[in-house]
Amino acid sequence: MISSERLSKQLQYLRTISDPATGGSGINRLAFSDADWKCRDYLIGLMKDAGLHVTIDAFGNVRGHLPGRQENLPAIMFGSHADSVPDGGNYDGIVGILAAIEVVKSMQEDNFQNDHPLDVVLFMCEESSRFSAATLGSRAMRGELSIAELQRLQDAEGHSLYAVLKTRQLNPDAIASAKYDRPLKAFFEVHIEQGKVLEHTKTQLGVVTGIAAPTRLRVHLHGKADHSGATPMGMRFDSSCAAAEIILQVEKSASSYQAAPVVGTVGIVRVTPCAMNVIPGETELGIDIRSISAEAKDAVSKEICRQIEAICQRRSLTFDIEEISKETPAAMAPAMLDFLGAICQRQNRSWRFMPSGAGHDAMHWTDYTATGMLFIPCKDGISHNAAESADIKDIAAVTEVLEEAVRTTSQADFHFSESV
Ligand SMILES: [Zn+2]
Repeated sequence: MISSERLSKQLQYLRTISDPATGGSGINRLAFSDADWKCRDYLIGLMKDAGLHVTIDAFGNVRGHLPGRQENLPAIMFGSHADSVPDGGNYDGIVGILAAIEVVKSMQEDNFQNDHPLDVVLFMCEESSRFSAATLGSRAMRGELSIAELQRLQDAEGHSLYAVLKTRQLNPDAIASAKYDRPLKAFFEVHIEQGKVLEHTKTQLGVVTGIAAPTRLRVHLHGKADHSGATPMGMRFDSSCAAAEIILQVEKSASSYQAAPVVGTVGIVRVTPCAMNVIPGETELGIDIRSISAEAKDAVSKEICRQIEAICQRRSLTFDIEEISKETPAAMAPAMLDFLGAICQRQNRSWRFMPSGAGHDAMHWTDYTATGMLFIPCKDGISHNAAESADIKDIAAVTEVLEEAVRTTSQADFHFSESV
């Protein structure tokens, strides 16, 4: 049986593991910091207590293995991360790893027999706060991190990730060995939503349909800087007015797209020379467009670029558009969605399908195995913040759904339908 009391006590304790020197009332467990390491030791202890055999890879990722009755079958992997952003919350990541360990603990207490082996995974360095790159533990396990990249990635103090790994007695030179190449039958991750949808719709549980990825555009608008008093309105080439139209166009293009949800944000507006008495000659915009559908994201990006051209033409401005990044969204397989939806239904949960706007470790496993992700609400949608909070009832509920998912898939006679 899943014990909400046990989960609650563990969350309470983890709240005390935070670096006080970093200040703030939130959780400070920056990747590979002393607090992160203390938290990791505690979680390793919980894994061992649940009967898991613990191994560590070259990047420091922790795997707790529970042999199956048929050990040669593909494993079921599930878990999350435990590092935090500066002054973050005690639920981001943590809920997922505690839920994973609790599932094994509960299965052991019930003498449940798994045919397939289980791998509970604690991913290192999921947050980009320290090395400006996210989900590094997953990337190491997928064989996507090179020694050169470990040397290139640096924290604010100039320590390379390579050097930091060494100070933790890890083995960056053997990073290639961190690649996980055992076949998997399924991967599951539980996480707080980090948004407002579940709370607003009064829903307890979200089954994630896909994880959005951004396309980012940097746009430079070239007008003419003139005297703000001496230049009549009809004789101006004001780049900020074009920028204003473009910002509204991004909002319109993203929100009016019908086939799939798309979000568009202009998070950077830099006006030059930025003086009260000068018409802004130059404006730079930073545009971020996300969707779990690559086609939808492409269609909206193209539409925005067409509109930028039209707006600039009408205003006789020149422009250039630079595509800074274009990442591929991760889609969950329909059979996995049916499977998790059916469990929520059977357990009589209030649940919905929903996309994830934020990135997660799970997005690195969708092309490797059947990947499922479950969300629970967080209060006011607040995350990456000291005020982050989740209800223990919701944490226990999602853990019960995870448990049924793991128990079911761990049986040799269970097969996902063809589409996975
Ligand atoms: Zn997270």
